[in-house]
Amino acid sequence: MTISNKPVSVIIVGAGFGGIAAAIELRQRGYEVTLIEKYTDSKQFGDIIDFFPNGGAIMGAWDNGRIGREILREGIDNCEKLEFYKYDGKKVYEEPWLEEPEDYYKQFGGHRGEIHLICLNYAKELGAVVKFGSAVSRYLDLDDRAAVELENGEILYADAVIAADGPKSIARQQVFNLPDTKVNSGYAIYRAFLTTTPDISDNELLKDLVTGKDKLKVWIGSHVHMLAYCWNNNRDIAWVITHKDDHEIEDSWSFPAKKSDVFKYIEKFDPFCIELVNQTPETSIIDYKLVWRDPLETWISPKGHITIIGDAAHCHLPTSAQGGAQAMEDAVCLAECLKLSDSNVKLALKAMERIRFNRANLVHQLGISNRDVWHYVDWDEIEKDPKKISGMRYDWVIRYDVLKETRKHYPAIAEDIISGKEGTVEELSLPARH
Ligand SMILES: Cc1cc2nc3c(=O)[nH]c(=O)nc-3n(C[C@H](O)[C@H](O)[C@H](O)COP(=O)(O)OP(=O)(O)OC[C@H]3O[C@@H](n4cnc5c(N)ncnc54)[C@H](O)[C@@H]3O)c2cc1C
Repeated sequence: MTISNKPVSVIIVGAGFGGIAAAIELRQRGYEVTLIEKYTDSKQFGDIIDFFPNGGAIMGAWDNGRIGREILREGIDNCEKLEFYKYDGKKVYEEPWLEEPEDYYKQFGGHRGEIHLICLNYAKELGAVVKFGSAVSRYLDLDDRAAVELENGEILYADAVIAADGPKSIARQQVFNLPDTKVNSGYAIYRAFLTTTPDISDNELLKDLVTGKDKLKVWIGSHVHMLAYCWNNNRDIAWVITHKDDHEIEDSWSFPAKKSDVFKYIEKFDPFCIELVNQTPETSIIDYKLVWRDPLETWISPKGHITIIGDAAHCHLPTSAQGGAQAMEDAVCLAECLKLSDSNVKLALKAMERIRFNRANLVHQLGISNRDVWHYVDWDEIEKDPKKISGMRYDWVIRYDVLKETRKHYPAIAEDIISGKEGTVEELSLPARH
């Protein structure tokens, strides 16, 4: 990787997977990076996440594979199959966890907090200045640069600000002068992470989860599905149940859950599922409301020095299984555009937006279509063609190499932007509002 000679400084707000990937990719190209995060540590980043090869390959490439190997040590590394069941426990389909053997170093899953800590340590090793426990309260879009104000009143200036501040982004409103447009997606998730106990490992009903091999199982019912994971040689277990929900979303989207409520959604499910919830300490279950946000018209501030990326720009539903990966694709594309533009911030941000906008928003929509494939399933159809139940791993999504695509498309797109051309016949190069 060539290092930039121009000392461009970048402030990144939010150290989720988008912000942290931006910090790493920008430091790798020699830019000054300050990463500001309101959480105090990686443990607050939650329970389970999967990265399919388009996202995993980004992490897998860091430090010649060292970061990927560290993630595999902590995460899912010997899962053979992804198993699909009808809600009542009838197995309908299974497919390999890895589509290709070389995906081993490109496809990751495991505890979010643990994967996050590995990435955070790498960002620090590369020299990113990391300020945890600091919240940004204001974004300032200035004529020649940008700034953020922290809650303690301190103002920090930089050549560019990247708002990677997630689904509750305040940048979305402040930078684009928009009302808060979150809407209840009509769905919520119960999620739980726990450590295996003897009551689980010796449990006749649950024996197929704790076999020593990493496991990933999915049960599908009408408007509700459940995923259960077990990994780290039987040590770690996580499950999520996505279900319909009409609760109003106000300030908080995340609540302690009651087991009695969880059981209502899985009454007719496999006794395995009921027993797994039964064995989960109630304090480990979170009730998380899923928010839908429509795509924005642009990701760039009026004066051109602030951009938003990741969930702040395209708030992915978990059923796309792509939110983290898309946030990281934004990050790589942005860093590479900055390098290719010879550190021209305005040009780089616009080029990043053109390269990323359509893809990120299409994948965002997949959150709904994937969910509906499962929630409106026709079991007679699945009996005839069981593979239809799988569906989530589209080649155009997971076989995409963001670095290669950025290098391929940047020259034409930069030329369009410089010449003031709004767009070309190529959809890829259309400006965001199209
Ligand atoms: C239950 C669930 C399961 C999911 N599973 C998957 C999956 O398997 N695969 C996948 O790819 N995606 C998954 N997703 C989606 C994925 O988690 C998100 O799309 C992804 O984390 C977005 O990353 P981000 O960096 O844009 O935002 P976030 O991870 O939300 O990070 C934003 C960060 O900004 C910080 N922040 C916010 N405001 C401020 C401020 N004012 N000042 C300072 N810091 C601030 C927040 O504290 C947070 O750390 C799932 C989501 C959910 C809810």
